[in-house]
Amino acid sequence: MEDMLADKAAVITGASSGNGRATAMAFAHEGADIVVADIREEPREGGTPTHEKVQEETDAEATFVECDVSNTDDLKNAVEAAEEFGGVDVMVNNAGIFRSEAFADVTEDQFDQMFDVNVKGVFFGTQAAAARMRENGGGSIINLSSVAGLEGSGDYVTYCGTKGAVRMLTYATASALGGDGIRVNAIHPGLIETKMTTEDVPIIGSESEEQFMKQIPAGRSGQPEDVADVALYLASDLSDYVTAESIVVDGGLSNTQ
Ligand code: NAD
Repeated sequence: MEDMLADKAAVITGASSGNGRATAMAFAHEGADIVVADIREEPREGGTPTHEKVQEETDAEATFVECDVSNTDDLKNAVEAAEEFGGVDVMVNNAGIFRSEAFADVTEDQFDQMFDVNVKGVFFGTQAAAARMRENGGGSIINLSSVAGLEGSGDYVTYCGTKGAVRMLTYATASALGGDGIRVNAIHPGLIETKMTTEDVPIIGSESEEQFMKQIPAGRSGQPEDVADVALYLASDLSDYVTAESIVVDGGLSNTQ
């Protein structure tokens, strides 16, 4: 089979670490050039910066752009950076933040910060990419929601709110952009082993990990590559007739008891 993303250019927010980094590598191995758009260059988990790893390990090109997704100008710059690769074909709105919280204690600043990154970032990332994709005759936009965008949890009320919003923004923008040949889909990961789940909200490596494992038919936590494989499908022509859709990547967690 030919490279699935030959001659494509992808902008991936939050691609320095975790799910975004694995997605960048998966896309690059299939021929896509990559713009890594992140507030930091060094992977949270350590190792070679993603854009350098792409260049070292694949035939694809890659560049790093400093980008805070809560800043709309930064998002426009990230999309603009894909011009050197022919213009954006695939936008992955992946950057996000997660924390556990006591609902009663959440401050307005904390609320705003999470919605700015997780929701506003997706909204304006989509707007910036779609403007360019329209000129290209289409494209694929992939938003990272979560199982927390499907089910409510009292420990993560703000996060659930943001990820539910991402889900509905996905469907609404798919409706708005379908006529331009732009597909928009959401990925809903379950428990994936990244710094988000080992450090920010340390589920993996804690007592609650065992509880989670009992609820996951696959019997393990997910790896960023599990998310990247689904992103690859959604980025490629294999999903040509798939839009306004949610794909859950959780080892069976949310549909079983
Ligand atoms: P991560 O912390 O490993 O990586 C997140 C990356 O986003 C980091 O490189 C970070 O620097 C970057 N980032 C943070 N704020 C940013 C900002 N304002 N602008 C640009 N970049 C920013 O986390 P991850 O687990 O890879 O998460 C990626 C996405 O997957 C998030 O949207 C997250 O909510 C979603 N998700 C993760 C899990 C999981 O279990 N890990 C589950 C469901 C959904």
